[in-house]
Amino acid sequence: MAAQVISGKALAKKIREGIKQDVERIKQERGFTPGLAVILVGDDPASHTYVNNKEKSCIEVGMNSFVDRMPAETTMEELLAKVDEYNAREDVHGLLVQFPLPKHLDEKKVLARIAPEKDVDGLTVENAGALLSGLPGLVSCTPAGVIELIKESGEEISGKHAVVVGRSNLVGKPVSMLLLNENATVTMCHSRTQNLAEVCRTADILVAAIGKPEFITGDFIKEGAIVIDVGTSRVNGKLKGDVLFDEAAEKAAYITPVPGGVGPMTITMLLKNTLIAAERA
Ligand code: NAP
Repeated sequence: MAAQVISGKALAKKIREGIKQDVERIKQERGFTPGLAVILVGDDPASHTYVNNKEKSCIEVGMNSFVDRMPAETTMEELLAKVDEYNAREDVHGLLVQFPLPKHLDEKKVLARIAPEKDVDGLTVENAGALLSGLPGLVSCTPAGVIELIKESGEEISGKHAVVVGRSNLVGKPVSMLLLNENATVTMCHSRTQNLAEVCRTADILVAAIGKPEFITGDFIKEGAIVIDVGTSRVNGKLKGDVLFDEAAEKAAYITPVPGGVGPMTITMLLKNTLIAAERA
């Protein structure tokens, strides 16, 4: 079987067009513009690129973007004061602090300070708990994007066996919870899982979020599976996923590429969360 490629790029474009219309509707009907604030501390080049992309994407859908670039020597007190400032601002509906932070700053403390209703990254304990408890909250962006990509295949999730490789708070755990909420039977795998390839071969839906380039070979794939590759690793300057694409595509029915799969969905879900936060404001 040669898999059908699910393009995150195309899906992201479609969803962003809808978001743009919703932003316009909020402006017309409620008289305000949804706004996203991003706090960036330090000089990490990758973080600067990510934040620039977020800013550009916000503007493209008609949202307000507020980017605060703070120096690397910013103190915890200064950063928390900045978070408080954006928490209090009525024109800011979504707030995120770009990670990683410089080593002297405590990421957990910073996250805990973000107002949960503005936590558009869905990373606060309150939003993680809401997901676990089936309460309305804000779902973290990459996991939400994974679900949208699976749905784009047109296949039913309910009743399927989903295997998620990786159990991070950022990706693996929330993806597993979302799949469970969609009534999949979910198996979570990690670095101590035995016979990983064998477990993966039982997956109707396989989500790889490990961070090991091309680790998931064709031998891990069940015929007709849906394969979602979250992994991104730089190898000789090229972006590689966790899945060995050509081999997996021989067996899978649907597969996402890297780049152009999960990546473009992540910022799109950030815009969607900002819209949700603005609607609830
Ligand atoms: P992480 O925090 O490093 O977690 C990696 C997970 O993979 C851990 O749970 C680890 O198991 C598991 N793992 C590592 N080696 C394994 C192995 N040989 N067999 C089975 N499991 C193994 O990473 P993350 O933040 O979840 O990110 C995962 C990947 O997704 C990375 O490549 C990251 O760059 C990418 N990512 C992409 C996007 C995007 O927008 N495209 C967003 C977020 C992340 P243990 O828990 O046992 O250590």
